[in-house]
Amino acid sequence: MELRLYNTLTRRKEVFTPADPSRVTMYVCGPTVYNRAHIGNARPAVVFDVLARLLRHEYGAEHVVYARNITDIEDKIIASAAAEGVPIGTITARYEQHYLDDMGALGVLPPDLAPHATDHIPQMVALTQRLIERGHAYAAEGHVLFDVPSWPDYGKLSRRPMDEMIAGARVEVAPYKRSPADFVLWKPSSADQPGWDSPWGRGRPGWHIECSAMIAEQLGETIDIHAGGIDLQFPHHENEIAQSQCAHGGAPLASVWLHNGFLDMRGEKMSKSLGNVTLVEDLLKAGHRGEVLRLALLMGHYRQPLDWTEDLVFDAKRRLDRLYSFVGDEIAPPPNEFLDLLSDDLNTPSALAWVADARNALAHSKRLLAAQAELKGALHLLGLMRTDSATWFRGSDGRHSLDGDVIEARLGQRSVARARRDWVESDRIRDELAAGGIILEDSPSGTTWRRT
Ligand code: AMP
Ligand code: ZN
Repeated sequence: MELRLYNTLTRRKEVFTPADPSRVTMYVCGPTVYNRAHIGNARPAVVFDVLARLLRHEYGAEHVVYARNITDIEDKIIASAAAEGVPIGTITARYEQHYLDDMGALGVLPPDLAPHATDHIPQMVALTQRLIERGHAYAAEGHVLFDVPSWPDYGKLSRRPMDEMIAGARVEVAPYKRSPADFVLWKPSSADQPGWDSPWGRGRPGWHIECSAMIAEQLGETIDIHAGGIDLQFPHHENEIAQSQCAHGGAPLASVWLHNGFLDMRGEKMSKSLGNVTLVEDLLKAGHRGEVLRLALLMGHYRQPLDWTEDLVFDAKRRLDRLYSFVGDEIAPPPNEFLDLLSDDLNTPSALAWVADARNALAHSKRLLAAQAELKGALHLLGLMRTDSATWFRGSDGRHSLDGDVIEARLGQRSVARARRDWVESDRIRDELAAGGIILEDSPSGTTWRRT
């Protein structure tokens, strides 16, 4: 298997070659924990979970280190804690747990490392100090700022001209800034705000320095893959690169940069500020199963925008019903054709199309059981088919979970079983359908069904 990934840094699809195949490192910018995740926030978690699974499959789980941080100090957290009159730790612990629950429901495996920003304050202070020493940062009025003009390579990732970057960053004009593009590494905290002692007084880190410090501490100066949503490309990732590279004598922060496209709602980015968010929690409460939501997220290519619609979710549900009615309990390694498609820049739509074709061909396969097991292996790699079919069809939305196509398919399988006088299998299918609220009536002219 040759994994090719589209590297935002070079704007090309490249063959992925980790610096050390016995320790493949990946970092994804994680959530700021002060509110519930919407389904757009789940997109990077799900697509990069698929990448982590693929890397583990290729290099061995023990050779992959996937870190996704928790941003647990940030102004929105402080505001939320102040509004409730509780310490920030109360807010962050609550929403971190919600995040893990929501992502868990979507089949997102816990990353190998989940570093917390507040556990890395000394590293952030040290990194900031080093940037000052090397002439890339300066202290002013209790703040420390990164001196953007001190580093001519600034802007290489997003490839924007400086004036556009300044406008795009909507940087606040502040008297203590030498250049409007300079960004905060450290800022002062008032007495009623959380803060840590530092050479520049009591304060707290800026958002960008958090990731640079956690990456260096947990994974190393140069990592193989750094990923996140496309909105993080500028300024967040640009600033991470500037800080890390200037502090580490020019060593690149990451070899490959990956960015997922937006999840949209009627053509507009799903975002809290636009007020068009659908929370993962609410989708689950409405009876959509996590696996359905996960498949819906994987039905688009991760770099393309994906429109979140009822049809998308309905389609995902139908696809899973069809797969659950064909795939058994056995599991085998995924076939190479599937892996090749997925390895082409994580092309989940093509890989899923292959699965659908393979499943249609299954009925005629001479090696039915082996093919079923491989198909299940392929779906497992995508984090799907996490339950057995009987449980699936008894699922949370109960008796209406079976649509006509699936019932017909099951009836087809049952008549094949009956033709070979396999009464056990025939009865098993009858019972499974009964659990989904479908009653079969056998007669000399064939079998009919009705809903209870
Ligand atoms: P935020 O809470 O806005 O910092 O976002 C957390 C993560 O979700 C970041 O990686 C964002 O890039 C990503 N994200 C936020 N909104 C969307 C969206 N509508 N579609 C895809 N990714 C998103
Ligand atoms: Zn980050």
